[in-house]
Amino acid sequence: MKTVRQLIEELYPDYKEKLEEMFPNMYKFARQVEIIPWEETFQKTDKNPEIFQQIEFLQMLLENGMISEEEYRKSLKYIHPGYASITKGISFIKDKKVAFRDKIPPITAILHELGHIYFKEDDYVWNSVYGGGESLLHLTLTQKASFTEKDIKNHMRFMRLILLAPISKLKEIDQQLTKYIRHHMESKNLGSLSVNNSVLSLILAAGTLPGVEFEEGEDLLYEHIYDKRKIDLLIKKGKIVIKSSYYRQMLIQFLLEIIDGYQYQDPFYQNYGNAYFYHLSDIVKTTTKILNPSIQNIEEFEKEFELPFIAHYFTALGINKNEAISKKDNPLEIIEKYIFTPFSNLLPVDRYELIIGSNKLIIIKSEVTERLKDYLNKNPNIQLPQIIKDILEDNNIKV
Ligand SMILES: [Zn+2]
Repeated sequence: MKTVRQLIEELYPDYKEKLEEMFPNMYKFARQVEIIPWEETFQKTDKNPEIFQQIEFLQMLLENGMISEEEYRKSLKYIHPGYASITKGISFIKDKKVAFRDKIPPITAILHELGHIYFKEDDYVWNSVYGGGESLLHLTLTQKASFTEKDIKNHMRFMRLILLAPISKLKEIDQQLTKYIRHHMESKNLGSLSVNNSVLSLILAAGTLPGVEFEEGEDLLYEHIYDKRKIDLLIKKGKIVIKSSYYRQMLIQFLLEIIDGYQYQDPFYQNYGNAYFYHLSDIVKTTTKILNPSIQNIEEFEKEFELPFIAHYFTALGINKNEAISKKDNPLEIIEKYIFTPFSNLLPVDRYELIIGSNKLIIIKSEVTERLKDYLNKNPNIQLPQIIKDILEDNNIKV
């Protein structure tokens, strides 16, 4: 069987040197990744026709010059996290095998599948369509920025933690992230752009509108849209407040804008990006501490599990490190103990009415939501563990 490394050297010899220099471990690893023949069953079947219609519409706008390429790319990213491109390849992470639809797959498809296997991550944090680790690889290969494998890993860790964090913790993560960026920019004399700690200020200062809904003060925001100091002050005073369920989206948008900032040379986002990547190890450390004080080093913690995702999941759930490690061969046992059992013991919910999502901790099926709301209304004094309260809040159920 041919390996990915042989394929790259055969088809794209000019990438050999680049990859050896820029991503040496990943390229070395490509020797272990075998290429197996393509089968039609590999084609993803979970295509959502609605999404494809939206993509076609955007393509039409692009081809007719009605939107720029940048707008097209950005809109594409917001359409749906489940956006599925026509599958060019597939990777089997645990078996270290890949398959490609074409005999001569594009280098981007080869690197995409290789990256899945090397970093052992799924599309939510790897795919460049969502601003994942793959974006950093391409920015580096095209010399628009310079990132290492460590940067890619940390960026994906941070993305995953944001995707999984309970809503109740996101505000603090936002504050800490903004603090790092602000201090860094002040120390480099790039101006004190913000008097408060939310990426909302940074997004607005860069002239971007956040894709969020507001709890309060949307009218104030538009009234003072050109007066950045005033807006900062209003945010600080709590006169402009975004809905807590939009924190996740705002943070992900901020990361996407940073990637686009490098791609399209936006000076604001490049500055934010330089600050973000400079402090990324510390940002990951701080975020880990906010979510789970029992974990000192998430990188070490990941080594206990087959996939980093499982470590991130336990981190976000706030489950004690030693307990998580003791159950590493059967992570479901812990979920049973901390989620399913307390849920069904304390609330009228069956375990099958809870979905363990890949980019959200736990999703409560919609038909159960009303029943739960009703029950909680009738039993206002019910005592629930924090972990259950967080899950309810994430599902827009007030406790
Ligand atoms: Zn993929």
